Amino acid sequence: MIVNNSLDEVKKRENALSIIKNIVGSAGRSSLFDLTGLSGGFIASPSELSLLETYVGPAIFEEALQKVGVEHMGGDKVIPLNRTSSGILATILTIVNKDSNVVHYLAELPAHPSIPRSCALVGANYSETDKFDEFSIPENTSLVVITGSTMDHKVIDEDEFKKVIEMAHEKNIPVMVDDASGARLRTVIFNQAKACDLGADIAITSTDKLMPGPRGGLMAGCEDLIDEIKVKVNQFGLEAQPPAVLAMLNGIKNFSEDNLINSLERKDELFELLNSNFENFEKTPTGVMITPQGLSKEINIKHNLSDDDLAFVFSFILLRDHGIITIPAVSMPGASATIRFDLSTEDAFKLNLNDLNKKIESSFKKLQKAVSNEDECREIVFIS
Ligand SMILES: *Cc1c(COP(=O)(O)O)cnc(C)c1O
Repeated sequence: MIVNNSLDEVKKRENALSIIKNIVGSAGRSSLFDLTGLSGGFIASPSELSLLETYVGPAIFEEALQKVGVEHMGGDKVIPLNRTSSGILATILTIVNKDSNVVHYLAELPAHPSIPRSCALVGANYSETDKFDEFSIPENTSLVVITGSTMDHKVIDEDEFKKVIEMAHEKNIPVMVDDASGARLRTVIFNQAKACDLGADIAITSTDKLMPGPRGGLMAGCEDLIDEIKVKVNQFGLEAQPPAVLAMLNGIKNFSEDNLINSLERKDELFELLNSNFENFEKTPTGVMITPQGLSKEINIKHNLSDDDLAFVFSFILLRDHGIITIPAVSMPGASATIRFDLSTEDAFKLNLNDLNKKIESSFKKLQKAVSNEDECREIVFIS
């Protein structure tokens, strides 16, 4: 095993960032292709930048974000947050009591780790399921959670979404929706309604997923609950700071549904190309992916690596040799190790799909060569 714990994950991420820095330094930003679907954009004009002071910034940009954010998310009011995880933590700190139950329905396990971790922090009993027939709300439940679109972009069925909200509201239990990518994926590609319009009390989205905004979270919901949560957000320093708020505002304003829709055709083309060499790629709503288990099935050489390790090594080879950024190399601890090639971001439109296919194929050949040598794999992941 190569990546065994959260510390290893922090170390591999440091290495990935150092590889990225070297590529930018030697060949320029145009030699990197960020296919994570998380763009971390920062759109801002010089006159806006000059207003980024501690109190002037929020006065101008948080005000403007209220209108644009509510249009994007629904609900009465929004709070800009440092990350989606911060919003999840703040909501759980506000609503969930020790020893109460939190139940979570999502299209496919697992949930984002911030949800079970936040529940553990307050001493709640947490359970999650992806089987709708098995979902129920026990006595003493303080919060029902729904994930709109999972880390691997599995999207919930809208009828099930509505039914879970109905079941919760019959018992007067609030519903929090983790709509990190779902706020755009569900609505644009699957024509679903906004979470707040479906009745969610709280919905949180990630402002750099499938939109040109910064890493950050945007929470929307009914005003009373939002105000209560905002107290915790401020008490624990979970709020977004003025530069992120400005970039969120402009990210939402520049969000293009067309990029998501145009990626649909290109993903079919890439999927066909990959299928001449691989059997375990799958389509996502805006690209293709291979799970760690799928990757493991493609390898026909004896080795001792875990499935996740294979994904980490593959992700690092793609980065090192071709400047292709995928999530496993750069992710935070606990994130999914699935390799996703998202075709909806700016960098993806610069890539010729035949070239991308060849780059994936040649990286895979290098992975095959490396797997039987664990020391070499460790070097690929941890040493740039
Ligand atoms: C990305 C993601 C999160 C966490 O977002 P951060 O901004 O990294 O905190 C939570 N839930 C889901 C489903 C996600 O995809």
